Formats: sequence, C-alpha cells, structure tokens
Amino acid sequence: MNEKDTYRYHDMLEGCRQLASRYSFVTVYEIGRSVLGRPVIALRCGRGSRKIHINASFHANEWITSALLMRFVGDLSASYANDELLRGQEVAELCREVTLWAVPMVNPDGVELAQCGVTKSNPLYEQLIAWNGGSNNFSGWKANARGVDLNDQFPAHWEDECKRRGVDGPGPRDYPGPQPLSEPEALAMASLTENIGFDAVIALHTQGREIYWNYRDYEPIEAEMIAKRLGQASGYKPVKLSGSDAGYKDWFIQYYRKPGFTVEAGYGENPLPFQNFDHIYMELQPLLVEALQIGRHRPS
Ligand SMILES: [Zn+2]
Repeated sequence: MNEKDTYRYHDMLEGCRQLASRYSFVTVYEIGRSVLGRPVIALRCGRGSRKIHINASFHANEWITSALLMRFVGDLSASYANDELLRGQEVAELCREVTLWAVPMVNPDGVELAQCGVTKSNPLYEQLIAWNGGSNNFSGWKANARGVDLNDQFPAHWEDECKRRGVDGPGPRDYPGPQPLSEPEALAMASLTENIGFDAVIALHTQGREIYWNYRDYEPIEAEMIAKRLGQASGYKPVKLSGSDAGYKDWFIQYYRKPGFTVEAGYGENPLPFQNFDHIYMELQPLLVEALQIGRHRPS
C-alpha cells in the first residue's frame, strides 16, 4: 500500500472484498449510496455483544483515515485468525466480547473529488467547478458532491452551527446543508447508528494529534477518563472543546449519552501526505486497540 501516493475508493472496496473472503468473521454491508450512487460500505468484524463503531473520511481531503482504518481492520482480523497478540492485547478473547463496526469511507464522492478533481462526465461538473471557485484543484475539498460538509449535518444544535459557520450555500467546506441529514451519506450514518445501537463511537479525522471527547456536557461521566486512556496509548492530547455543533460524535453523545470521540490523527497540512502513513499508523494503532476496550469490565 505504501508504494502509492493515494488510497482511493476502489482500493477500499477491494480491501473489503479481500477481508470478507479471507475471514469468516468479517462481513461487508452496503449501508447507503452517495449522491453519485457509490455504495457506502460498513465492515463488521468480531462476534461480541459490545458494539464499537469507528468511521473515517467524513471529510474528503482527510482520506488517509480510510487507509488507516482499513489497515487496522486487517491487522485486527489477522491477529484474531492467528490467535496472536495485538499491541499486547489478546485479540481472540477481545473479539469474542466486542464487535467492531467500521465505515472506512463515509464520503466516497468527496474523496474522489479531492484526489482526482472532476471530469466532464460528472453530472455536477459545472456546479462543482463553480462551487470550488472556478478551480479543478479539489485538494482542499472537505464536503460531499453537493458541497455539503457531512460533519455539520447532524441534529445536535444544527441551527447554532449554521449561524456560527455563516456559509449560505454549497462549497468546499463548512456548509451545513439546507437541513439536518439532507445528504444521503449523513443519513446512512444516522440510520446505521440507530439500527445497530453502538456502545461507543470514534470518528477519524486529520489532523492535529488530538482527541475531542465532550459535547455541551451531554457526555457520560466516563468519557474524560476514556479519552485519557486513548491519549496515553497514542501520545495524542485529549481536548475539551466548545463552540462546535452538529458533528456526528456530537449527535451521538447528545442523543445516546454514550462515549463518542473525534480523533484528529497525524500532524501537518491536509491532505496529509501518504508517505506519512506508517508513522501515523504506528501512533494510531494502539489508540484503536484501546478503543475496543471501551465498556469492557476489567479488574481495577
Ligand atoms: Zn475532519
């Protein structure tokens, strides 16, 4: 994977296909379709009753998170199948207790845009170029194919977020859309979350090496301690955030009152160069192993 300089939608699909054919405990689901009709994929890994969700690439030019999450599901699956330790953890035992639900690329249209720009075959060609200020360089694009920021789409003080952002129409970033969950990718994530009933969620973004663990005091009491553990595992800094609404983890915390985290992986300018992949993964992997422990009863 590291000889290349990008990780595209079809790489993710091929990775999912390989994992499902190799491991009986991995299942692939289509949870919805993007604006341009690309299946949004979820992977279920493990057999336990505790359900932990991790997603990646809500934001288009943060696509390196898709490669990071796919690598983690691959490592977890291999360790489970071979009865090996992963960062000192007994994975076989863990995967009997927990089920990981991964959505490795929430925003496939946006990722393709950020990586490849737009061609005239795209039905939204003229609009997308206009929304991007006349340029075909989409490397700063965070939104979906309708110019909506998918992580500003959730019904958690959404109106406040609209006022704060002050962006009235489609563009590369920060437009919350005409209403909450107006976009099919955000709706697919909300539906999956409602249907499965996760015990905790992690949303992978870049960058900053930080962990956001709270939302307007709706978070459960244990959230801060969990963030501390995730921070100790990775070297990332737990941060108590204010002045941000309508994100996926915000909605999850407010609606379910369960632990939800945004992890800002890596450090630098987005899109983080793919050559940094191994370094970022080495920091992130123990954080993700630790995330699978959330809610686990362990001796104190
Ligand atoms: Zn982001």
